[in-house]
Amino acid sequence: MGNWFNWKKFNLTTFCSILILSSALAGANGPLPVKPNTHLWGFFGHKRINRVAVFTLPPEMLGFFKENIEFITEHAVDPDKRRYSVEGEAQRHYIDIDHYAHNGQNPFEVVPRKWNDAVEKFTEDTLQAYGIVPWHILVMKMRLQKAFESKNVDLILKYASEIGHYIGDAHVPLHTTENYNGQLTGQRGIHGLWESRIVEINAEEYDYFVGKGKYISNVLNFAWEAVEASNAGVDSVLTIEKELTAEFPSDLKYSYEQRGQALIQVYSKEFCDEYQRRLNGMVERRMREAIVGVGSIWYTAWVDAGQPDLSILTNTPPSPELLKELQELEEMYQHTEHKGTICD
Ligand SMILES: [Zn+2]
Repeated sequence: MGNWFNWKKFNLTTFCSILILSSALAGANGPLPVKPNTHLWGFFGHKRINRVAVFTLPPEMLGFFKENIEFITEHAVDPDKRRYSVEGEAQRHYIDIDHYAHNGQNPFEVVPRKWNDAVEKFTEDTLQAYGIVPWHILVMKMRLQKAFESKNVDLILKYASEIGHYIGDAHVPLHTTENYNGQLTGQRGIHGLWESRIVEINAEEYDYFVGKGKYISNVLNFAWEAVEASNAGVDSVLTIEKELTAEFPSDLKYSYEQRGQALIQVYSKEFCDEYQRRLNGMVERRMREAIVGVGSIWYTAWVDAGQPDLSILTNTPPSPELLKELQELEEMYQHTEHKGTICD
């Protein structure tokens, strides 16, 4: 698989993605430590998911997607770049499903899967307030399907990249709970520990042979099942970290890494290794599920569009207009104050 990935580039991207530091941190007395930051699946994880998902596709799709694999990889993180500048974006990345359950209820029995039923029961304002990721995956699938139907290269690339992001998020346990960063249980920072730090340290060890994508007859159910499986991991994610913290020498839980001119506080490799060991492969499993899920939804959108011949779209790069739009997004993101953080 070596040729498929540009490991160096990934590592560079990782480093860049963690840079919430500013040169101001390096004062006259040298670099100052800052709090551990958190970073979604990490830009790293999202990019890896989209990239590997390309190889789950059937031959009829593989050529087009391989030709555009750099675009699909890079733009896996666009939805996160929009979070702070586009109203309505943030809630597409999660659902705080436990908000809806009281007295031991199963929230997945309380919240109707269909949007209209859920709106009727809870109002749209409430749904938007606590996150809409499963429904947004369906919206994006329909957009991608239409893009395939019209054979619009720009829109196929844009929506394929972006739906990969939302599917990735739906596979993260802490994207399904109000306690998304351990802030309710004294575990602030755990979001980034699980989906960024662990992934960045271990991603090269993971097994990415996930098999082929398959047709998904009910995309909404697929999205809900992803969320439900993620949510089933929340308790372990939190409990195991709490137990480990209690046992672990407190001065060894964090370490410092030089990033540019600043010293960043991160969970130590030893802590991460032990946490990952106790999670028993959970992070890798969720990542593999996300990869095959992304490939399956791309494939499903294409099938539902009538299996258009993508070979006629090869040698058609994304338009200058699309690249300009995405460049503007990047510039806006670079000037966003919350860059790279979600939870602190
Ligand atoms: Zn996200």
